[in-house]
Amino acid sequence: MNKQKIYLSPPHLSGSELKYIKDAFASGWVAPVGQQIDFFEAELEKVLKRNSKVVALNSGTAAIHLALVMLGVKNGDSVMIQSNTHIASANPIVYLGAKPIFIDSEKDTWNMEPELLETAIIAETKKGKKPKAIVVVHLYGMPAKMDEINAIAQKYDIPVIEDAAEALGSAYNGHKCGTLGDYGILSFNGNKIITTSGGGALVTKTIEDKQKAVFLATQARDDAPHYQHSQIGYNYRMSNIVAGIGCGQMEVLDDRVKARRANFDFYQKELGGLGFEFLQEPENVFTNRWLTTILTDAYETREKIRLALAKENIESRPLWKPMHLQPVFTNEIAYTNGISEDLFNRGLCLPSGSNLTDADRERIVKVIKRI
Ligand SMILES: *Cc1c(COP(=O)(O)O)cnc(C)c1O
Repeated sequence: MNKQKIYLSPPHLSGSELKYIKDAFASGWVAPVGQQIDFFEAELEKVLKRNSKVVALNSGTAAIHLALVMLGVKNGDSVMIQSNTHIASANPIVYLGAKPIFIDSEKDTWNMEPELLETAIIAETKKGKKPKAIVVVHLYGMPAKMDEINAIAQKYDIPVIEDAAEALGSAYNGHKCGTLGDYGILSFNGNKIITTSGGGALVTKTIEDKQKAVFLATQARDDAPHYQHSQIGYNYRMSNIVAGIGCGQMEVLDDRVKARRANFDFYQKELGGLGFEFLQEPENVFTNRWLTTILTDAYETREKIRLALAKENIESRPLWKPMHLQPVFTNEIAYTNGISEDLFNRGLCLPSGSNLTDADRERIVKVIKRI
């Protein structure tokens, strides 16, 4: 194995991150306050539009946790959540002592199935426990069916948290992902479309909500000369240094989306005729194509391809294992239809970095074509 490793989705720096970090050092603001945070948040607000108010945090997971706290989710509550996701969407529900109730996917976007969501809400409410929130995910950057989900959420008066960790740059009906629910969350982990090395953000709709989130994210400190606290808070704010990386990354967000979409187009052109299914972009949707995914005919084919790629030092990964199949969640309630399980069995994420070279991509499809 002497060929250079191709990763699934590695960080891709713009080159101007260091400039912002140096400015932070020069100003002396290296703590979780400062101009870089303010600028990073303002740049995100510009991209998201709709008067969004952004709170930069130290992870996407922290953002989901805070959103649940803001909605008053407590011990013993239940929260509806898309099963087909990364575990970071679900863990904060458990941190709060609440119960995740998993909802399976539909075929067009692989995200939450709206009808199943409604079935679950009705059934759980009948049992005497109306869900406190709905967590919907735009997996791999593909927007979920938000019109349908929001309509159901409104009908039953349940707030929506939109996990747009993988979907910065994606849009639905012309509105950016992250602005479609009551709260949105973003992630800037190393593998995401842009990175701050590690970080996240909560997207709120009002300045009051933003202020409340900042308060909770900085240990819920009361207005007093001494340290005084009347409620439990968190240490979740992003550091100003890390925000400097984010400022540099915001300069190239559009380029990163273009590069990811070009990866998808390339794979579809090269492999589309070979019997693989590619997730198509619905009419009212723009996806950032964070990861290009393919569906093979069977588990065995998927594994053959994955192992052949690994042998050539190329990283690929099965589609995310649904939460209702995770050992840690075996005792939780799930409303299933077999779709996310089937996707997990047959699907593969291909290397999708925005820094893939033409030669890398040729190397990847050559291995797949051989099989
Ligand atoms: C990455 C990710 C998160 C969590 O973000 P972190 O910044 O890694 O905590 C949440 N949800 C989804 C769908 C993700 O892909």
